[in-house]
Order: sequence, then structure tokens, then C-alpha cells
Amino acid sequence: MTLRVAVVGGGIGGLTLAIALSRAGGVQVEVHERAVELGEVGAAVALAANAVRLLDDLGLGPALRAASVEPTELIYRGWREGRRIAGFPVGDGGWYEQRFGAPFLGIHRADLQRILADAFDPALLRLGRTVTGIDDGQGAVRLRFADGSATEADVVVGADGVWSAVRRWVDPDAAPVYTGTSGLRGLVPVSALPSLPDPLAIQFWVGPDAHLLHYAIEGGRTVNFLAVLEGPAAWTAPTGTALAAPGELADAFAGWHPAVREMVAAVPQSDRWGLFALPPLARWSRGRVTLLGDAAHAMLPHHGQGANQTIEDAVTLAACLTSAPLDEALPRYERLRRTRTRQVQRSSWDTSPLLHLPDGPAADARDHDLTGLAELLGWIHGHDALAAVQPASGAR
Ligand SMILES: Cc1cc2nc3c(=O)[nH]c(=O)nc-3n(C[C@H](O)[C@H](O)[C@H](O)COP(=O)(O)OP(=O)(O)OC[C@H]3O[C@@H](n4cnc5c(N)ncnc54)[C@H](O)[C@@H]3O)c2cc1C
Repeated sequence: MTLRVAVVGGGIGGLTLAIALSRAGGVQVEVHERAVELGEVGAAVALAANAVRLLDDLGLGPALRAASVEPTELIYRGWREGRRIAGFPVGDGGWYEQRFGAPFLGIHRADLQRILADAFDPALLRLGRTVTGIDDGQGAVRLRFADGSATEADVVVGADGVWSAVRRWVDPDAAPVYTGTSGLRGLVPVSALPSLPDPLAIQFWVGPDAHLLHYAIEGGRTVNFLAVLEGPAAWTAPTGTALAAPGELADAFAGWHPAVREMVAAVPQSDRWGLFALPPLARWSRGRVTLLGDAAHAMLPHHGQGANQTIEDAVTLAACLTSAPLDEALPRYERLRRTRTRQVQRSSWDTSPLLHLPDGPAADARDHDLTGLAELLGWIHGHDALAAVQPASGAR
């Protein structure tokens, strides 16, 4: 009998899972998404080789490359004078792709969602469907929606993000923890950044109590930045985002290098994302219901891996569901993904204070360590999630 899979959430993870299941065949998959239309305005995502390789496998490589920019280098700079602390070739000389088997790509989030959505049957992407309840019955799981309707499936996957409703059913005690840091994002035309050295590089500017990360998208015409600040001390907004005060970004980066000041001055007011991380769950699955992506392991963005790990989850879960009965597939998926995502999550957490050090001996030690970053990040970018799930078949 054909396995019926209901995916809750049409974000990066939910759509990738749906494509991977459809490509594998033998599965009937439907995605239920709360939003009435797809797309998040004003933000981009950096896709590393560990995810690009998997999207290539799904046949999305050409569309992805056509909409992305490959950074020339990864550069760390000092906050005030822009001193180059460390730099590694990425697109330059093809070093990164040779080493990790796929490029590193910066892409507008709305473009990524469009590419994913275009690769999936639109009739099976159900928009405006907010899941409000789950009943795991004898032979099937019943999903209830805010509009009073319901559906049934053999397996339900909660790909519904950091504030997951499905997770509340799987592990009711789990809750994201506010990390005491917040992020403000913006898109700025390169033409507004005359002081910016290396506009096509992915660059971290690191300084006391803050850092700013940026990379180019949209053919190199636009720079996407994420500024991370210490505070507020407590997160009191009812959702994960709140409008920051006008001029707050400019105040936070007063005294920084002119390129950073130009960048934040171009965005007089921004949403502020509270940065939350999810402590390890007691379990990822309950009965026929499982989780993936931020719902299972929301992490700090300091390795740029939240979406990338979500894509790894999605292809792993699709491979497990299409190669073993459900009672084996879900425990296998959890075994394959729990340790890996925990390691990336912890490493992102440990990185946070290092990016916000004041000038002094601790910052000097960090700067010295950064010169070995390419090796340190190999375990993240070099991981092959499909090889891990298909060890017997080896290379794809
Ligand atoms: C400031 C910031 C910068 C980031 N930068 C990067 C980066 O550069 N690279 C990277 O890899 N990651 C980055 N991330 C992390 C990345 O955005 C997430 O890890 C990734 O989007 C998780 O994908 P997901 O599919 O699990 O969840 P999401 O993308 O959040 O998707 C969840 C979906 O579920 C839907 N939904 C929610 N509740 C319901 C419900 N009850 N019923 C139906 N649908 C529902 C939502 O509308 C949404 O479409 C960043 C995160 C932040 C906060």
C-alpha cells in the first residue's frame, strides 16, 4: 500500500522532504503550510556544500546556481580598522568546490523557496492550512486545521520551524531557549557601499558585543547582512521577531569601520530576530509523528547551518521512509541525525561569545585560531548525509 506522508510546514525542510519523497516514488506526500503564499521578504540564506550536494542530487543544481552568487572568499575582519584577520578562498580558484564537491552559494530566501516549490506538484502544496491538533489513532494520524478541516496520513512530519506545533505533541516539555542575543537583517545595493572591501566575499566583521556577517546575492548587485547584537537581556515579544527601534543598528555600530556603518545606515529600521536554540529533545518521534529542521534542533546561525542541517534531515528522512517499514525508518532517521545536528548546534553555540570579544588577549587567541578555520569547518561542510544513510552503496 502507498505510504501517505503529511508534512506540516512548507519551509526549506518541508519542501525538500516533499521533493525527495516524490522523486523516490511509491509515496503519496502532501504539504500543509500555514502561510497563504510562500516567501519571506528581506533575507537570504547561505547554502554550504553539505546541502548543495543534496539539492544537486534532487536535480535542483542548475536552477540554484542560476539564482545564486558564489562568494569569492570567506574573510574575517576586525571591527574598527577592517584588518583582515583570516581569509580562505571559496569561489576563487575553485578551492572550496574541489575540496567539498559542491559550491558555497548565497541566495535570496524567496528564490530558494520558489525553486523548491517549482520542483513539487502545486496541487499537493496546501497553503493557508494551519495545523492545530494531532490525534494518533490505530491505523493513521489525524491532523486538524484551524479552519475546522482535517486530514489523515500514515506518517506526519513536523517541519514547522522553531515554534513547532507538532513538537508540542511529540515532546510537550521542550521549549526553545532565548540566547540573550538578537539578529537584525538587511539587503543593501552594493552601490551604496563605497567603503566595502571585497563586496563579493562572505565576510564576518567581529568586535565588542556584536558582529556583522554579509554576502552578495542577486548577481552580486545586493549585499545581504545579518548583524548580531548582545541583548536584549530577556525576550518579551509574543513571537520570535519584533520591530527594532529606528536608528538602533546605527547606534550599535557607531565607531565601526565605514563599510559597516554604510551598510547599517542603509537600513534605518529592521525587524529584530530573537536568537533561540532548542535544548536536546527527549525524543524526535512519537508513534507515527516525527520532526525535522528547526522543529527538532533550532540552532544559532553562527555556522550558517540551520537551513543546511534541515536539508540534510530531509533527504535522510526521505531515504529512511522509502527503504524500511515505518517502525524501523523513524528510529533509524533519529539515530542518523541526532548526534550530527547536536554537534553543529553546540559548535554554533560555542562560537557566539568568540565573535563578540573586546580587543585584548582573548581576541588575539581567537584570531590565531581562525587561521585554521578551513580545517575546523571540514566536518560540517564535508559531511555527506546520503552516504551516511546508504553506507552499503557507498558513493552516489
Ligand atoms: C537571523 C537568522 C539568519 C539565518 N541565516 C541562515 C543562513 O544563512 N544559513 C542557514 O543555513 N540557516 C540560516 N538560518 C536558519 C534557517 O533560517 C532555519 O534553520 C531554516 O529556515 C529552518 O527550516 P525549517 O524548514 O525547519 O523551518 P522554517 O523555514 O521556519 O519553515 C517552517 C514553516 O512551517 C510553517 N508553519 C509553522 N507553523 C505551522 C502550523 N501550525 N501549520 C502549518 N504550517 C506551519 C511556517 O509558516 C514555515 O513556512 C537563519 C536563521 C535566523 C533566525
